[in-house]
Amino acid sequence: MFNGLGSIDDTFSIKSPNDIRYGMGATDELKRFAARHGIESALIVTDADIADAGATAPVCDALSAASVDIHVFDGVTPEPKLRLAEQATEALSKVDADLVVGVGGGSCLDTAKLASVLIEHDTPIREMLGMDNVPGPGRPTVLVPTTAGTGSEVTHIGVFADEDDGNNKKVVYSEHLFCDLALVDPTLTRSLPPAIAAATGMDALSHAIESYVSTLRTPMTDVLARRAIELIGENLRQAVHQGAHNDEARYRMSLAATMAGQAFVNSGLGAVHALTYPLGVEYGIGHGRANAVLLPHVMRYNVLAEPDRLADIAHLLGSTDQTTLEQARGAADAVAALNDDMGIPNQLRELGDIDESEFEAFADVAFEYSQHNIDRNPRSMSRQDAVELFENAY
Ligand code: NAD
Repeated sequence: MFNGLGSIDDTFSIKSPNDIRYGMGATDELKRFAARHGIESALIVTDADIADAGATAPVCDALSAASVDIHVFDGVTPEPKLRLAEQATEALSKVDADLVVGVGGGSCLDTAKLASVLIEHDTPIREMLGMDNVPGPGRPTVLVPTTAGTGSEVTHIGVFADEDDGNNKKVVYSEHLFCDLALVDPTLTRSLPPAIAAATGMDALSHAIESYVSTLRTPMTDVLARRAIELIGENLRQAVHQGAHNDEARYRMSLAATMAGQAFVNSGLGAVHALTYPLGVEYGIGHGRANAVLLPHVMRYNVLAEPDRLADIAHLLGSTDQTTLEQARGAADAVAALNDDMGIPNQLRELGDIDESEFEAFADVAFEYSQHNIDRNPRSMSRQDAVELFENAY
C-alpha cells in the first residue's frame, strides 16, 4: 500500500511553471506582475462565453490598475484547431502586446501558450508538434484557468485538432510552453454551468488517477495525485450541485485540478487518455466527458496490475469494501457512482450515436496517436484489449 516515500533508488525531475499564485482573488497578483516586468500592453486570449460570464473582468481590472493597455482575442472555441492558434497569433502580432494572458478552460490556455511561441519564431505550427520541437522561449505568458479541470495552467502541453488530418488531436510538448505565472483564482469558476463543472472535474480526477497508477509515477507525483483524488471525492458533487453558493467546494476543486495537473505533467497519463482520442475526433464528445465515461472501465481493466493502488483510491473516495481486490474493484464503482450523481453516463452507448463497428478503427487511432499514453498504463494493453475495453464500455 502507498507509504508516500518511494524507494531511495528513485531519481526523478520535477517540471513546473515559473510561479503559481493560488487563492480566492489571486488574479489581483497580475497587477504586481505587470508592474514588476514593465508590461505596457497585454492580449487576453479567451472565448466570448467566458467574457459574457464575467470571468475576464477581474483580469481586466488587475491589468487596468497597472495601467496596461488591454486587447482581447475572444475567438477561442472548445477543442481548438491548429488554425485557431494561428489566428490568435495574428491578433497578437497586430497589437504586438508585451504579455499574453490566457483566461478560460484548457482550450483558451492552450491557444494562449501556442500564440506566445508562434509569435517569437518563424517555425510553422506543424513543425512544433510533438516533443521538444519549439525552438525557444515565447512571449511572457500568464495563465488564468476558469474551469477546475485540465490543469493546463501548470503543464507544458498544448492540445489541438489538426484540420488537415481528419481533426485528429495533436500535441505540442515543450518546456517553452510553461507559463511565467499561473494564477489560480477559484472565484472565476463560480459561473461554470453544472454540466461543464462536472465534466471538467472528472477530467481532473482522470488526471489524478492515471498519474497515481502511471508507470512513470514518482514519490512527488504520488502525493499530488493522491490528495487530488481525495479532494475531488469530497468536493465535486457539491461544486456541481451547489453552483456559485459553495466557495469552499470550488476552492478545493481548483486546488485538486492544479495538483492533478502538476502530477500528470511529471508522470504521464494512461489508457483513458489514449482511448478517448477517437471519441473526441469522430463524435465531438468533450474531453472531460469522454474521460469520465471510460475512466471506471479502464480502472477495472487495471485492477490486476495495480490492486494496492486501486484499493487505496477506493479508500480515498470513501469506499468501505473489505479485501484488497474488492477494494480495487470498488474504486471503479466509486468513480461510476460519481458519474451517476452528476448525470454523466457510464456506458458509451448513452453518449449518442456511437457505432460499435468503429471500435477496431478507434483502437487503431488510439495506438497511432497516443501510444505514449498506452505505454504509461500499468497493465499492458494490446490492440485487441483496447477493442474489448470499448465493447465492455459500450
Ligand atoms: P474548454 O476550455 O473547452 O471550455 C468548455 C466550455 O466551458 C466553453 O464553452 C467555455 O466557454 C466554458 N467555460 C469555461 N469556463 C467557464 C466559466 N467560468 N463560466 C462559464 N463558462 C465557462 O474546456 P476544458 O475542459 O477546460 O478544456 C478542454 C481542452 O483542454 C481540450 O482541448 C483538451 O484536449 C485540453 N487539455 C489540455 C491539457 C493541457 O495540459 N494543456 C490537459 C487536458 C486537456
